[in-house]
Amino acid sequence: MSAVLELERVTKQYPGPPPVRALDRVSVAVAAGELAAVVGPSGSGKSTLLHLMGTLDRPSSGVVRVTGLDAARMSDRQVSALRAARIGFVFQQFFLAEHQTVLANVADGLLYAGVPRAGRRRLAVAALDRVGLGHRVGARPTQLSGGERQRVAIARAIVGRPPVLLADEPTGNLDSGAGASILALLEELNDVGTTVIVVTHEHAIAARMRRRIEMLDGRVVTDTGPAAVGGWQAREGRS
Ligand code: ADP
Repeated sequence: MSAVLELERVTKQYPGPPPVRALDRVSVAVAAGELAAVVGPSGSGKSTLLHLMGTLDRPSSGVVRVTGLDAARMSDRQVSALRAARIGFVFQQFFLAEHQTVLANVADGLLYAGVPRAGRRRLAVAALDRVGLGHRVGARPTQLSGGERQRVAIARAIVGRPPVLLADEPTGNLDSGAGASILALLEELNDVGTTVIVVTHEHAIAARMRRRIEMLDGRVVTDTGPAAVGGWQAREGRS
């Protein structure tokens, strides 16, 4: 198995008072091509786990590797470059710039990738096509539905074609119909090779994922993977 994300005995302690141990010696490895759900009650450490996987935060102890590279051995600048090239993020709150067009929002996802402006626009149009919004490039986020806004956020996350997509409650602000179509989109992206990890408290979503990583009190209490690699790898006989 080639792991794209690896946590080895990772602990994250937030300074107090009182100090909170949000993650307690968590070890988990996610292989290329996996589609995994991180589940568990509120406060169990799901978001902290996703933040550490995505190098948005550093562990108090333990090792985090992204595509085999040890983030702890890198400078902040190197970690930022690693994150920009290899990880896309999607959040419950979309985080779109309301005064900018859909196209500009997505193109901004490439600001740190060193792509010239024309290239950014071309890639942004392609990403919007992939999420089914190629016809709305000139719209403002305020003119879109919640589901469409989340599609824009996903396009921004994948515009640089990162191998890994991390989503924190991506359907949390959507009605069930829009949520289901966002989930289908994440599955489509996984089908064509993106490793997708979704934090969710919704059982219906978790039930559809091939792998479920269940958290409680900062620990992984159940993990149905990592043998269950599916999607494109299984179909191409590469797992
Ligand atoms: P979940 O995503 O499962 O709801 P979190 O990862 O957000 O859980 O939080 C895990 C624990 O860490 C909780 O007790 C939370 O209060 C605490 N926590 C999260 N972020 C911080 C922070 N920045 N400072 C202090 N405590 C935090």
